[in-house]
Amino acid sequence: MPELPEVENLRMGLAKNILNQKILSVEIGKPKLVSGKGTLRKISTKKKTQFIKGVVGEKFIGVERRAKNLIFKLTHGKILIAHLKMSGQFVYQKKNGQNAIIGGHPIELSETKLPNKHSHIIFKLSNGVLYYNDTRMFGYVLYYSDLKTFEAENHFAMYGVEPLSKEFTPKYFFESLKNKKGRAKGRTGKIKALLMDQKIVTGLGNIYADESLFEAKIRPDRQAMSISSKETTRLHKAIIRIIKRAIKVGGSSVATYRLLDNTRGNYAREHKVYGKDGEKCQNCKKPLTKTIVAGRTTIFCPSCQR
Ligand SMILES: [Zn+2]
Repeated sequence: MPELPEVENLRMGLAKNILNQKILSVEIGKPKLVSGKGTLRKISTKKKTQFIKGVVGEKFIGVERRAKNLIFKLTHGKILIAHLKMSGQFVYQKKNGQNAIIGGHPIELSETKLPNKHSHIIFKLSNGVLYYNDTRMFGYVLYYSDLKTFEAENHFAMYGVEPLSKEFTPKYFFESLKNKKGRAKGRTGKIKALLMDQKIVTGLGNIYADESLFEAKIRPDRQAMSISSKETTRLHKAIIRIIKRAIKVGGSSVATYRLLDNTRGNYAREHKVYGKDGEKCQNCKKPLTKTIVAGRTTIFCPSCQR
């Protein structure tokens, strides 16, 4: 799944291409993708009708992001929210049918043929076409007629703060890690698991959790409760630096993720632990090692990270 820097790059690419364009028509092949809320997908043809009726004739006036969700602002206060999940992809194709630009998970067909069998939502715009393709259909694009209806669903209630927001302070981070034990029953309480569960700080997945913990010299399998104030400050600083840097260079070159301009992200060149099991640690030259935290492969340096 793309992490924050990759979704942020997709957001920027979409904003550059679709803003101020009018939606001339929408085709929805799979009502499931526009039904329900959050991860609950109850197929509703009523939702499909509302979606189409609601957005046709409106213009895209903003593309925002919260955690890994994309929020499209339309004229008349209307809102679309999209999450790519495991296999979603946006493709914007200009009017001349060329220069298809792709953001999200790679779907081979999208490079040669559009629409294809995975193009489930198709927005015809004044200057081009925006496709939402999804092979496994865990993603979604939901329509809300106004901000109030959107907010009533509390879509983002489960998320913690954004790592680049001013709410993400060392104090907030430290207190959250300490409180976590009681609030998150049934969780392992390991620091990497808490970084990835989005409830304290959003946007970190496997790559950026491993990289941040390496930079902060903290073992990924440490109990979060045991992390000192000094260590928390180090981790806080590492998260911000790494997320900022990854956004700047276009995210990570993950095999299952592409950027909107069809290039691969460059942050992968700067990975120090992710995907480097058995390689030498860049600090101490001893071999990196592998463990499993929260069901995910986790690479770290047992000598630098304590
Ligand atoms: Zn080391």
